[in-house]
Amino acid sequence: MSNIKTMPKQVSGRARKGHHKYIFVVGGVMSGVGKGIATASIGKLLTARGLSVNLVKVDPYLNVDAGTMNPIEHGEVFVLDSGLETDQDMGNYERFLDRDLGPDDYMTSGMVYSSVIERERNLGYDGKCVEAIPHVRDEITNRLKRAAEASKSDVSVIEIGGTIGDFQNALFIEAARVMHLLNPADVLFVMVSFLPVPGTLGEMKTKPTQNAVRMLNSYGVQPDIIIARSTHRLDRKRKEKLAIWCNVPPERIISAPDVESIYDVPINFERDKFSDILLEALGKKSAPPAELSEWKKFAEHAHNGNGTVRIGIVGKYFDTGDFVLSDAYISVIEAIKFSAYDAEYKPEIEWINSKDIQDGTLPVESLRKYDGIIVPGGFGETGIEGKIQTAQFARENKIPYFGLCYGLQMMVIEYARNVAGLKNANTTEIEPGTPHPVIDILPDQREKLARKDYGGSMRLGAYPCVLKEGTNAYEAYLPVLKKADGKKEISERHRHRYEINPEYVERLEKAGLVFSGRWQGGKLMEIAELPKTEHPFMLGTQFHPELRARPLSPHPLFSAFIKAAIQRTQNTRVIQ
Ligand code: GLN
Repeated sequence: MSNIKTMPKQVSGRARKGHHKYIFVVGGVMSGVGKGIATASIGKLLTARGLSVNLVKVDPYLNVDAGTMNPIEHGEVFVLDSGLETDQDMGNYERFLDRDLGPDDYMTSGMVYSSVIERERNLGYDGKCVEAIPHVRDEITNRLKRAAEASKSDVSVIEIGGTIGDFQNALFIEAARVMHLLNPADVLFVMVSFLPVPGTLGEMKTKPTQNAVRMLNSYGVQPDIIIARSTHRLDRKRKEKLAIWCNVPPERIISAPDVESIYDVPINFERDKFSDILLEALGKKSAPPAELSEWKKFAEHAHNGNGTVRIGIVGKYFDTGDFVLSDAYISVIEAIKFSAYDAEYKPEIEWINSKDIQDGTLPVESLRKYDGIIVPGGFGETGIEGKIQTAQFARENKIPYFGLCYGLQMMVIEYARNVAGLKNANTTEIEPGTPHPVIDILPDQREKLARKDYGGSMRLGAYPCVLKEGTNAYEAYLPVLKKADGKKEISERHRHRYEINPEYVERLEKAGLVFSGRWQGGKLMEIAELPKTEHPFMLGTQFHPELRARPLSPHPLFSAFIKAAIQRTQNTRVIQ
């Protein structure tokens, strides 16, 4: 087949004004140096200059989505409104942009290939031989175009996962190369590279980046901008060296030293006038100055605070070394931070393995030192009795408790067993024969599990929930409700197969538990809580509020929880 025949005719997305622009972000030297945060920060800066931006994550693995991967393997699964289960980078994107992203803003090789194969099976290629080039490549470009159209943005910033030289991401880079070839003025390449400072030399080395650029050149791609990640700022000498060897003007090499908080990154980029450089490279002549005042105020709070609030997270995915912890629960951690910063406090987050509480390695009494306790989402049997004990301890000792999904289910089981007198109550996820299945499988999930239909099949994404007036949840959401014309309905994201068994609702209510949020004509319990007269804050949600928490709009339930925790710091400090 000749090359000409394999060229797509038009790959540029429809623009709102002028041409739609695409910025591809690729990684050089090694992974894990903050390509996702760099992408999110580019999005933030362009938005601050008045442009509308969508951010796209390309994950080169063959899983169709991130939903079937173990959190220890992959970190958190971030669920979009649409219900798509994606990579944790999407969470950072939404948090930096303060915007909901759509299902086209995320793609994996598995997703791309399965669409192509499905189309082939349906004779969608008119009997042609279906190949990586052009068919898979064009599927990639079409998806990017769809994402641009769906978001009605001016600019798409696309992070290509992995590092230059990987086998897996080459087709994505090829798709980007061809988009650039057809519309050179509308497509930019940014390389995020790493400059090591070897301990023995104490000097920053540019060679790995030079080689990474050469590798990218061998794909037919020249970076327009280099983001130089390192422990230190890049000095003039090294900027010039990189400029000569990498063929990039020195002013387009951005210094990106390590910073204390990821939220400082856009501010730091702007010190090198990065948004001007981006706009100039995109050919955008006029744009308002960068509006970052709110963001700066928020980022400042990360460094200062009137005090600290100690939050214990009792969870499960803590088995494989420190650095995985924060990955498995990244949205929970960020949600805590936003609410604490908003209250001008610094959170001190500690991890407690529920298994240790369960087997007595860690006495449950040790939880007393926390100002607030969170039991986050989870699946399966490991450590669940430890979580149930945690809920009991928090309830009996009036320590603020916030249960997220599984954490709600644990709180309800504890209440059923120890207050409502339902001995051995449990969830059927763990004990199908329990005498009191207070948590049971959602009706439509039973068939899915019987068919072994596991991928993307949970109750996923945004669903509404109606709040009960006068409850703690209602009070917390009030400012949000007021903005929505006083409606009592909210919308939150979900990811679960089990629910509070409607048959037990009455008995639990009689025992004092309040269901403050419901859906499906009142049949599906979304929020459970104890009244303020009983407990300062004991509340659980079937949904995942952490997925909707943003730096500039902290989540109301997290804020109510943090407020109660701060109150406890004051009470306990007075006693001391
Ligand atoms: N395992 C529980 C369920 O499927 C909770 C899920 C979660 O915490 N995300 O319902």
